Amino acid sequence: SSFEEANLYETLASNVKKAGYLKPTPVQKYSLPVILGGRDLMACAQTGSGKTAAFLLPVLTGMTRDGVGGGAFSESGAQEPQALIVTPTRELALQISHEARKFSHSTMIRPVVAYGGTSVQYQLREISRGCNLLVATPGRLMDFIEKAKVGLSKIKYLVLDEADRMLDMGFEPVIRRLVGSPNMPNKGERQTLMFSATFPEEIQRLAGDFLNDYVYLTV
Ligand code: AMP
Repeated sequence: SSFEEANLYETLASNVKKAGYLKPTPVQKYSLPVILGGRDLMACAQTGSGKTAAFLLPVLTGMTRDGVGGGAFSESGAQEPQALIVTPTRELALQISHEARKFSHSTMIRPVVAYGGTSVQYQLREISRGCNLLVATPGRLMDFIEKAKVGLSKIKYLVLDEADRMLDMGFEPVIRRLVGSPNMPNKGERQTLMFSATFPEEIQRLAGDFLNDYVYLTV
């Protein structure tokens, strides 16, 4: 199996090749058709399995097919990304945004990253320049949502990365507040993808609450 068979958007397929990815890893091989087919997904996969590209490539393909714009502003002046990737740490947020930038080269997709522990000014400026794909850690994300810098009403793709680690770090209430926000499209109206290294009861409960008729994948 190859990336050519996966029906990725052409420019993305060429960016994948340029990144030196010759063959999909198992999690990529099985996730791509599920996500491209529009299904919600709960995937158990470790760091190092290639899970980042497993969600990024189909989400970027979907955004391109949807005809992504330059990042829409709501009436309040908030940026309204179409894709939101939530991840527990600054390191992961940076890794995901670097990979997203590599893949979205020569497309209309503009990935922006937001994480805590550093000044908000630069991140807010980057967001205000247009942000259709936002990679964020939970605390900083909620801060920007509460300050009306980021809006949720256009979210079509929601990814919860390393969900078990987010729970270990105490982020469950924040994640529940995020997904339950009045402006967040309901499950079924958005496509939700959860990745986790383990699948304990708390994660099963989250999957049940956040995902719509989901495919379960373990690699
Ligand atoms: P991840 O599990 O997403 O953190 O990815 C682990 C590492 O594998 C990253 O450095 C990726 O750039 C790399 N990688 C992911 N998918 C592939 C692939 N299909 N071929 C080669 N390298 C890959």
